[in-house]
Amino acid sequence: MEEGLLADVAGLNVPSLIPKNEDLAHVLEVLCTTGYGAWIVGGAVRDCILGELPKEYDICTTATPEQVIESFEDTIPTGIKYGTVTVKSGNSMFEVTTLRTEAGYGDGRRPDEVEWGSSLRIDLSRRDFTMNAMAYDYARELLHDPFGGKSDLENGFLKAVGDSSQRLSEDGLRIMRAYRFMDRQKKGIWLPDSDLSSALIDNRAMLAMVSIERVWNELSRIINGVNANIVLSRMNDDGVLPAIIGFPLPKEVFPRLAKLPDDLEARMAILFSGLSANDITVILERLKVPKAVFSRVKFLHFLIHNSPKQTELRLYRNALGAEVLTHSILKEALGENNDLIKKSLEYPSEVDCLVNGEWIMERTGLEPGIKLGRLKDWLFRIQIERGYNDLSQMETALCTVPWANGDPNDWPRPKWP
Ligand code: ATP
Ligand code: MG
Repeated sequence: MEEGLLADVAGLNVPSLIPKNEDLAHVLEVLCTTGYGAWIVGGAVRDCILGELPKEYDICTTATPEQVIESFEDTIPTGIKYGTVTVKSGNSMFEVTTLRTEAGYGDGRRPDEVEWGSSLRIDLSRRDFTMNAMAYDYARELLHDPFGGKSDLENGFLKAVGDSSQRLSEDGLRIMRAYRFMDRQKKGIWLPDSDLSSALIDNRAMLAMVSIERVWNELSRIINGVNANIVLSRMNDDGVLPAIIGFPLPKEVFPRLAKLPDDLEARMAILFSGLSANDITVILERLKVPKAVFSRVKFLHFLIHNSPKQTELRLYRNALGAEVLTHSILKEALGENNDLIKKSLEYPSEVDCLVNGEWIMERTGLEPGIKLGRLKDWLFRIQIERGYNDLSQMETALCTVPWANGDPNDWPRPKWP
């Protein structure tokens, strides 16, 4: 394979670090053949050193964004302002970013100005943690690791590139990234060094400068992590979680997370189990969580504080469907009795309504309209509650229902609670 421009930083020979990947090799080959420097950089290098298959490959290059666009047939100017062009190769997409030498972080979010550079060393020094500040020269099989990221990875240390406090104050999102990277999933926890540990506490106010969407993106990944109990408890103690949600959470909620599967909303419901429904609404609105997350967290929080009665089990099972299992897990995590919840699993979750509008019209003389619709709902409720499965039972049910009187809007529906 063609060798591109040589990096301005020493490299260590590490053969075959990156698994064979034709689409990736093609992008690197095109850039290198044209005389540019091109390296695999960041998360993919980190993951490969850990022996994990990267989810994506980012490439950095000495080519300017315009030159990248000219070099390939299929490109998307994804983040052209920051030098990023997405290149399509085969069935894959690669983010190709021009090396930068950017100056100033006036707003604590993004560099004020981005200048294209040709120094891999400077580009790597702009990255957040030593394990994310490595690049790989695919053709020469050289690992460029000026900050000792490989050894930090092997020792399980999370370290900032350069002065931790300065790096966190440049970009508050790095605080969230630090906590996310602490969770090594099945491999345990990466401990930040003492410099980074205290910088996380000292710079927590920087989070206010970061858009809540980006904070939420990281927070949701942290909550779903295998070791979320440890990481979130640390964020709570460090004052970082309070900086995000407005106040600290009681300590006892964190160990409960360890008993839950990676179900984001269930975990959030447990985290917020001691708060009022109102407080939760305020937090979720503040975090600008997606609508589906919002309503499910609210519902699961309701379930935490409400269980079905013995007489309601069939209706409850029918109304909740698969969410009964979540309810059961939540109660178990809280150390509360879930016998009735489990018992409801004996009843069907999907029931078809035995009667239709015509059947009711023939027997009642009702015309289509609200009364007919609500009577059907009422009968369906009775069918579920009593476990009826044939029409003769429904005939009996209809006889017991005083449908001729009253306001149909008040009639029972097949709902729980
Ligand atoms: P993931 O596995 O979540 O993709 P990642 O480290 O690859 O983790 P990306 O957001 O894809 O995260 O970023 C790619 C690389 O860009 C990182 O490895 C890091 O080198 C650099 N980077 C990302 N965000 C920042 C930041 N806020 N500050 C400095 N460098 C960053
Ligand atoms: Mg990545």
